[in-house]
Amino acid sequence: METSNCQLLEIFGINVFNDALMRERLPKDVYKRFQEVRKGNAELTLVLADVIANAMKDWAMEKGATHYCHWFQPMTGLTAEKHDSFISPTPEGRTIMEFSGKELIKGEPDASSFPSGGLRATFEARGYTAWDCSSSVFIKNRTLYIPCAFCSYNGQALDKKTPLLRSMEALNRQAVRLLKALGNTAVSRVTATLGPEQEYFLIDRRFFEKRLDLVLAGRTLFGAPSPRGQEMEDHYFGTLHDRIAAFMHEVNTELWKLGVSAKTQHNEVAPAQYELAPVFATVNVATDHNQLTMETLQKVAQRHGFVCLLHEKPFVGVNGSGKHNNWSMVTDTGVNLLDPGQTPHDNMVFLVFLCAVVRAVDKYAKLLRASVANPGNEHRLGANEAPPAIVSIFLGEQLTEIFEQLAAGGAPTSRQGGELRLGTSLLPPLPKDCTDRNRTSPFAFTGNKFEFRMVGSSQSCAGPAFVLNTIVADVLGEIADVLEKSKDVKAEAQKLLQKIASEHRRIVFNGDNYSADWVKEAARRGLPNIASTVESIETILEPENVAVFERNRVLSRVELEARVEILMENYIRTIHIEAATTLHIAKRQILPACQMYAGKLAASVSSVESVGVKSSSLVKQLEKVCGLIDELNGAIGKLEEKMKEVSGVSSSHEKARRTREEILPAMGSVRKAADALEMLVDAQMWPLPTYAEMLFLR
Ligand code: ADP
Ligand code: MG
Repeated sequence: METSNCQLLEIFGINVFNDALMRERLPKDVYKRFQEVRKGNAELTLVLADVIANAMKDWAMEKGATHYCHWFQPMTGLTAEKHDSFISPTPEGRTIMEFSGKELIKGEPDASSFPSGGLRATFEARGYTAWDCSSSVFIKNRTLYIPCAFCSYNGQALDKKTPLLRSMEALNRQAVRLLKALGNTAVSRVTATLGPEQEYFLIDRRFFEKRLDLVLAGRTLFGAPSPRGQEMEDHYFGTLHDRIAAFMHEVNTELWKLGVSAKTQHNEVAPAQYELAPVFATVNVATDHNQLTMETLQKVAQRHGFVCLLHEKPFVGVNGSGKHNNWSMVTDTGVNLLDPGQTPHDNMVFLVFLCAVVRAVDKYAKLLRASVANPGNEHRLGANEAPPAIVSIFLGEQLTEIFEQLAAGGAPTSRQGGELRLGTSLLPPLPKDCTDRNRTSPFAFTGNKFEFRMVGSSQSCAGPAFVLNTIVADVLGEIADVLEKSKDVKAEAQKLLQKIASEHRRIVFNGDNYSADWVKEAARRGLPNIASTVESIETILEPENVAVFERNRVLSRVELEARVEILMENYIRTIHIEAATTLHIAKRQILPACQMYAGKLAASVSSVESVGVKSSSLVKQLEKVCGLIDELNGAIGKLEEKMKEVSGVSSSHEKARRTREEILPAMGSVRKAADALEMLVDAQMWPLPTYAEMLFLR
């Protein structure tokens, strides 16, 4: 399907009930009142919802929709939807199409079928979905999609959206307070913005279908390295292959129709790896859009004979995939609070917000780390590939210098013989690109926003974003507490900045995060380095971490405990599926192929010998293959034993720990023997598509 440029303008947002449509289709007063609701200044009444629902239904039906669904984001990290048609029988026995305000704002899916981490057992199976009216409804597959939050009967969050919305409120509350304390009374709302860059792999479907590991686990559990990997450095930003370009075109078209502003696309570092980035949006909308993006990538890939892999590490030995969450804060007066700006006044605001982020990230580094802890990301963070599991901040040369001056406090004052005034002498106007890039930093300042690069490619953006919102909100609140009471706000702010800069210097690191030296240096600085997903998840329940969530009314202890339980269970299940798949492939595909090959070799040995020739190399090859078959058999036996042992453990924490410490390495041993065999066995007999085929043939 071809789309011309003018068509592009015509299709953008065509399936979204956006602001312009609302203005057009709603009575003026309803539209106005709804705007107040969206800004958080008024409650959504049922009367209002009824009018809006009716307008939505009319629009949806004009576009051919027959159903509506509450679209929500349970703790699976995926989205969920239950469809209902607009059909409604009347008492007179007729059928009309109806959609009420009640149906728009509230749904009742059965909460017991989603991960609840014990909340379900303690409370009730009943759960509710509630319309997140700040994210627009849209049409897909003849269905009106209503973005929703999902909670239990008692109002506990069972999803990723609820804490995200709560954290946005917390950030708004504290940022507005702080701005007021700094003398800015014009701002009445601050929102977090997010632009997630999405990395993914595309492989040909015919290979995917022959790899049970990709089908069931999303990553290869076997595979010797390809003779050619990414060492030529020729894929990154390389020319787009025609088939890929056609795929990307269709992805963009689909996303544009849904109002997702897909903007940047290019080849990534690894062969068969690509990236897509949208224009940033308000954090909850960007999160919804990222879910739609992941889904669209997968769907369109199917139509083009590809499979899109969103796993963090589908192939050993080649780069994995991340999601770079670009994050900032913007006021309703249009000011990006992390933009260094041109005027001294803005500089002061900028410095306070920048330092608040630095303090939050240092103080709650473990929480940020935990927000990206999943079984897939474990293969990236701190494993064979960077970024490491150590959270640090890249500020760039210029800002680091300023930060150091702040920490030193008195120095510039004495040199200039006057008082150090924030923003006047301290910070020159900062052009957007005055800092270099640092691709190795897990949390990098990139001119007017931070880029959180540890996020895994398959993850929902919500988790990392609500942690960031919450911890920054908390520190903004701390600063506001002090400044609100102060008589000389500027002097007090300066004192605070000095304190923050000297206390949190340790988190600033502009060097190579991938180097072994940094690991040592970070340890010297006392920065946590938590490579294990299981250990990282456990830190969520440390007292200061629970306190920061409770203080900001984002998650209660009970909700956090439930989440930890879900994360642990997810870790265990994921690795156990991988282990079972490893056994399946090793026993039923690889071993039989190797045994057949050994038989073929043995036959060759005897037929060669039957004509009186002795071939020691043939015999050696046979011995080598048989030796590896023994090794493979032994490793399979060990893995089976470990799985039996660990499945008997009842505590989820203990089970998760032992899964990581015992099952993962046992899987590694099976793979090691199998991959060695792959290098020896007749290619015609090898049962799995190879790394070279999957990564280079399209
Ligand atoms: P990179 O050079 O890091 O690969 P990209 O252009 O691929 O940059 O992606 C940068 C992302 O950052 C885009 O999604 C962009 O919209 C987003 N972004 C830019 N400004 C902001 C901001 N103020 N807040 C959040 N995200 C932003
Ligand atoms: Mg990028």
